[in-house]
Amino acid sequence: MAVVVVFDFDKTIIDCDSDNWVVDELGLTPLFTQLLPTMPWNSLMDRMFMELHSQGKTMEEIAECLKRAPLHPRIISAIKSAHASGCDLRIVSDANAFFIETVLKHHGLMDCFSEIKTNPSFVDGEGRLRILPYHDLKSSSHGCNFCPPNMCKGLVMERVRTSVSAEGKKRFIYLGDGSADFCSGLKLGEGDYLMPRKNYPIWEIICSNPKLIKSKINEWSNGEELEKILLHLITTISIEEKCNMRSDKCQASSMDSHKTFQSVLPVPH
Ligand SMILES: [Mg+2]
Ligand SMILES: [Zn+2]
Repeated sequence: MAVVVVFDFDKTIIDCDSDNWVVDELGLTPLFTQLLPTMPWNSLMDRMFMELHSQGKTMEEIAECLKRAPLHPRIISAIKSAHASGCDLRIVSDANAFFIETVLKHHGLMDCFSEIKTNPSFVDGEGRLRILPYHDLKSSSHGCNFCPPNMCKGLVMERVRTSVSAEGKKRFIYLGDGSADFCSGLKLGEGDYLMPRKNYPIWEIICSNPKLIKSKINEWSNGEELEKILLHLITTISIEEKCNMRSDKCQASSMDSHKTFQSVLPVPH
């Protein structure tokens, strides 16, 4: 099926912010709050892992903490159903590769996604988790006001569109809650769907700029609504696609019979 479903991760797939979750659960909230005014969020998370490492906290302890992050059971079933119906599922997130992969593997969802665009992570020689910005901060700024310096989701969406368009016409469904997800939403076209989380930053921005989004907009508030609306949109698109294919076939077959008719006539007896 020619449907690409792009999910944000924090407060969309999981019902919390994974960075805040780990910082709070592992007792780093005072230090995090103290340092936040002095450095970018992305660099601050890298600093937090330095702190955890110096306290003797292992990668396993961070992973165990992430496995406890709230994820609505209907969102798990929604992702599995969307995948089973043949949609191409992707994630565009300002969390990091280790967090996202740990959560997805724990819930048996890793194989449902064809691509995860996020801040890269790795474990250094001392066994410490490191986070790098998605965009190289040394090169020129992306200049987008909706997104943090380390990742402009609209820019990422443009790249996703370009890479999948090689396989033919695609319809997008995008789900998210943040202002960076609004930036992604700006890249959607008329045949696409934006699924903003109601009463979250993306929702507020849409309400004050209602004409900027070209796609259809279907809001959701919780896991039940996300599942119901997402599966409904996938069904709607697949019915539209089938109708289009059928009419193409009709035209093609009538043209073929016309050609056959013409080619039959000149054959001499
Ligand atoms: Mg989010
Ligand atoms: Zn942006």
